[in-house]
Amino acid sequence: MESAKEIWERALGELQIQINKANYTTWLRNSQGISCQDAIFVVGVPNIFIAEWLSKRLYSLVEKTLANIIGKDINVQFVVHNQDQLQASPLATSNQTDGGTSSKARLDKFNPRYTFDNFVVGDCNRLAYAAATEVAENPGRTYNPLFIHSSAGQGKTHLLHAIGRRAASSGLRVAYTSAEQFTNEFVLAIKRKQVEDFRGKFRNLQLLLFDDIQFIANKKQTLQCFLHTFSSLHNNNSQIIITADCPPKDIPLLSSKLRSRLEWGLVVSIQPPDFETRLSILRAKPRRTITPELEGILRLVAEKMHENVRQLEGAWAYLTAHAKLSGAELTPQIVNKLLTTTSNNQDKSSIVQTVAQYFDLPAEELVGRKRDRRISLARQIVMYLMREESNYSFTEIGKELGNRNHATILHGYKNIVNEINVNRKLYDQISEIKEQINSIKVSARKHYNV
Ligand code: ADP
Ligand code: MG
Repeated sequence: MESAKEIWERALGELQIQINKANYTTWLRNSQGISCQDAIFVVGVPNIFIAEWLSKRLYSLVEKTLANIIGKDINVQFVVHNQDQLQASPLATSNQTDGGTSSKARLDKFNPRYTFDNFVVGDCNRLAYAAATEVAENPGRTYNPLFIHSSAGQGKTHLLHAIGRRAASSGLRVAYTSAEQFTNEFVLAIKRKQVEDFRGKFRNLQLLLFDDIQFIANKKQTLQCFLHTFSSLHNNNSQIIITADCPPKDIPLLSSKLRSRLEWGLVVSIQPPDFETRLSILRAKPRRTITPELEGILRLVAEKMHENVRQLEGAWAYLTAHAKLSGAELTPQIVNKLLTTTSNNQDKSSIVQTVAQYFDLPAEELVGRKRDRRISLARQIVMYLMREESNYSFTEIGKELGNRNHATILHGYKNIVNEINVNRKLYDQISEIKEQINSIKVSARKHYNV
């Protein structure tokens, strides 16, 4: 039986013949087969926009192609898959395979895009950046371990690669591993009765980069092995840098011993990028002078894509690919259209409708001027949901809600963001409304077959 990876490679071979080259390169080239189970074939792609595009435009072709290869009907799912997880094995640490002679081999395992120079510094990540450069230049001397946490897509892996590259280029023995790779290789080592060899690979390191430690939080044996590795490296003054999606105290099921070790050095967070940082990141993208028109487009994208840097980059890649394929320059109208998915087009009015129904109010009241408490609250919930669920800009939301200005919407949105943290009832109400909205989205999607 072929693996999902092999099946997908064959499918790509066939798809390449069936669609044009530009489409193939933009949407399919960086995809991979992840699993094939229970009549569901999962394909990994680099970002959410590619996943959406493929599900909308190429679904039936992909489905048919796969069904032909596998010999039975199959459903296809496109999921976002982080390519960094597939990078070099930790066992291929620098200096060990090449005796330290080839600096190329040493640097090869780091993503050439993930450098300090390419990392845009703003208020949201300044501390993490400063700590990262410090440990890369003076490993084992200041913060050990350095623990960096943030939600997904905010630049943790980028910083680890940047540290690794800088340290390796000054001749240090460096290894990068994700917690997932570490686990897989550890499990394999147990099977093959080579646990000592596995541990040995880490023994002589001067710097260990350990990505996404939350992944091993519930894996007892792997944790034990990690703790061992951590302790011996730390005793040797080797620098350890760890990332996670939350601070050590919030990682569940961690022994107090390991938790306190993770807090020995410095714990820093990266916050979601503020508007200025998002704009700077986008400004670094186009390889041409930024005209006032282009600046307007960048600002619009920066305003709409506010969750994390990966989403921001995905949106930009999607927009530029679209411009290239269609031959049309990006305009604010096109950006608005492309960054608002089909299901979202129904959203604005359906969010107003759903909230109105929930509070038993006529929808016109939410758009209107009345300011009694119930109406104001419902209106602010609409603002909040349009932002959180559908990514509308504050200006767009204002337009939808009876031409209110940007500041009013921002105020309403922030009010709910603050309130939701302290008001359990409001939190529950909003969760219920969200569920209703999402069930509308799903049925709309079915209806329009997207
Ligand atoms: P995480 O590991 O936190 O999930 P990544 O390091 O994979 O996030 O970052 C996601 C994407 O965003 C990468 O392409 C990365 O280069 C980019 N990125 C993140 N933060 C920045 C930044 N401050 N400047 C430039 N690019 C960034
Ligand atoms: Mg990462």
